[in-house]
Amino acid sequence: MRPVPVVTLPDGSQKTVAAGTTLQAIAESIGKRLAQAAIACRLDGTIVDLTTPLAEKTEPHTLQILTDKDQDALEVLRHSCAHVMARAVVRLFPGTQLAFGPPIENGFYYDIDSPTPIREEDFPRIEAEMAKIVAMAEPFERFERTVPQGRELVAGMGQQYKIEHIDEELHRFGSLSFYRQGEFIDLCRGPHIPHAGRIGAFKILSIAGAYWKNDSNRKQLQRLYATAFFTQKDLDEHIKRMEEAKKRDHRLLGKQLALFTISQQVGPGLILWMPRGALVRGILENFIKDELLRLGYLPVYTPNIGKLELYRTSGHFPYYRDSQFPPLYQHPAAQALDLIQHRLVAGELTLEKEQEMEKFLAQASLSIPGYLEAKTQAEKLALVDDFGRDLIAKFQVVVHGYDSAKDRAGRARALLTWLENQEGYLLKPMNCPHHIQIYKAEPRSYRDLPLRLAEFGTVYRYEQTGELSGMTRVRGFTQDDAHLFMTPEQVEDELHKNIELVLFVLKTLGLNDYRVRIGLRAKNSDKYVGSNEDWDTAEASLIKVVKALDMRYTAEEGEAAFYGPKIDFVVRDCIGREWQLGTVQLDYNLPKRFDLEYAGSDNQSHRPVMIHRAPFGSMERFMGILIEHFAGAFPFWLAPEQARILPVSDKFNDYAKSVEARLREHGFRIAGDYSSDKVGAKIRQASLDKIPFMLVVGDKEQQAGGVAVRHRVKGDQGMITVDALIAQMEQNVKTRALD
Ligand SMILES: [Zn+2]
Ligand SMILES: [Zn+2]
Repeated sequence: MRPVPVVTLPDGSQKTVAAGTTLQAIAESIGKRLAQAAIACRLDGTIVDLTTPLAEKTEPHTLQILTDKDQDALEVLRHSCAHVMARAVVRLFPGTQLAFGPPIENGFYYDIDSPTPIREEDFPRIEAEMAKIVAMAEPFERFERTVPQGRELVAGMGQQYKIEHIDEELHRFGSLSFYRQGEFIDLCRGPHIPHAGRIGAFKILSIAGAYWKNDSNRKQLQRLYATAFFTQKDLDEHIKRMEEAKKRDHRLLGKQLALFTISQQVGPGLILWMPRGALVRGILENFIKDELLRLGYLPVYTPNIGKLELYRTSGHFPYYRDSQFPPLYQHPAAQALDLIQHRLVAGELTLEKEQEMEKFLAQASLSIPGYLEAKTQAEKLALVDDFGRDLIAKFQVVVHGYDSAKDRAGRARALLTWLENQEGYLLKPMNCPHHIQIYKAEPRSYRDLPLRLAEFGTVYRYEQTGELSGMTRVRGFTQDDAHLFMTPEQVEDELHKNIELVLFVLKTLGLNDYRVRIGLRAKNSDKYVGSNEDWDTAEASLIKVVKALDMRYTAEEGEAAFYGPKIDFVVRDCIGREWQLGTVQLDYNLPKRFDLEYAGSDNQSHRPVMIHRAPFGSMERFMGILIEHFAGAFPFWLAPEQARILPVSDKFNDYAKSVEARLREHGFRIAGDYSSDKVGAKIRQASLDKIPFMLVVGDKEQQAGGVAVRHRVKGDQGMITVDALIAQMEQNVKTRALD
């Protein structure tokens, strides 16, 4: 007997249907309203079209009908709108070649190659053409072809990129799927909305250059960015949020307010803190340092590099090799052989790995003869292999087992053994190994624990160039790091204190909307270090602490690190964007790898547990988030320039300077505007510079020994004496007032 398909719906109920019944028909059998609202379905975990017929299956299918309430449905809508946009572009720009058009966060794009390049001025008429297509509400119809038939179809349409894509990748599949909408046919996996009329609102946002398949060796195309929503209201809100986000962009404000800069001569992703930014950072650091001292942390300083051996022990090298700056080997040939080794073990390479490797070679100024011209993987690997052999001969390096190795993999292994014995240094990717050495510098007893070592420690990671962004994605950054060494019994208490500290700091900065993610281990997996009892206790403690503090949280199984469970902090800023801050992580692994111990009350040797915590992740990232959160207008206690004196004319410059000196004596960060500008212009400039207090002085103020206070937000506050002003400012700093 042929199996009859059964579907299980989200409410747990089951339905038996005839094989071949479409999901749309199932939706209709559930209810008319649901069928009308349906956009797509999640069938056995995959998003599919409503027109999909249900296949025969012994096990019940799971089915969820997606409506405009589901984020996944929004993605289907956006991808469908990408087809509509491409269709409009092809109509207006005949001969346009289409590449890829996926949905992305907040929208979608389509990569195109048009005979006449598209400009921003063209957006309105493309949008008008799209509106026509949407109004027609034609269905998206899926059909399949064999690879040769499908290839013929796109060849007939003259779509060169689609042909290349079939020849390079899709030919491996048995068949190709297409979607037709009116006269427009696109090679596509889907899924799509039932018809274009479901697109409630859309907008073309920008146009940029992009390479075919994101490969800089291939043709440059144009990437047309746009977004779409189910309703006009959603689109309007989104555009408002985008405008607000643009005004708050820390990269623009950082430049405008002279907080930080990035110099290509120093290096991409390396932040140069300018005096104003450095002042804010210093105040933040002192604020945190004071809290840490109060909580019993001990400050340490450690160097920015460490021996390779240290990171081999910790496991940070070569495990994270790809995300680190290349190591500084002592042996002149080691750098090159490291790359060769890396290349040889890689064997079969994906396109992504291949690009990564080419960047590494370029970075090390290494050129392997013939490599760039080589066509196949096998050719490339053979060239690398030959190059390695030449290097070994040239530097007369003795690599045991290299000559006797039977194949490439054997030579890679021999090289690895040789490399593992090479001395060298690595830019510090993590602070932990250094702090561990401080722990080990003295014998420790249970009486010394917990030992809390804190450092604003600078670390380096080699992020891909394309991933770098302002202060939030960088290659060198300073973590607000600390490592806590404790007995297993102390874990809960330490976690509690850690979270309280984070909450205190977030509250102080007005970041009141936050949640935590608890990463737990996957049940029945053997990839974790540490005993089951320890894990159970630690996980229970984490949940208990978070619950006790009444925080919003989600607990996610399988999200723990292999060495311990963790908590991630996620903050929502005032325009609703979420930022992941740092983590608090328990660690059973490093104490073992470094053989850490303490003498217990039983006089026996025990292994401590470690906590790594960098609640803000890094000062760079945190600063970037704060700039956006405050839109550059730092509260008085953090502002790099707290007040600016604005004499109404140069007759009052002397008096203004005397006020400036007095405020400075009280420890405030003050400047004066002694330019020949009118006072109105001075006020405008001070507002642009987001100075909390503007202090206007003229005849009346000089007579009275006062200043006229103009507050950045509250406006005119009238005249007060300098003494009263100082008292008010001191109060502001003391309470860390946010306005
Ligand atoms: Zn599509
Ligand atoms: Zn650490």
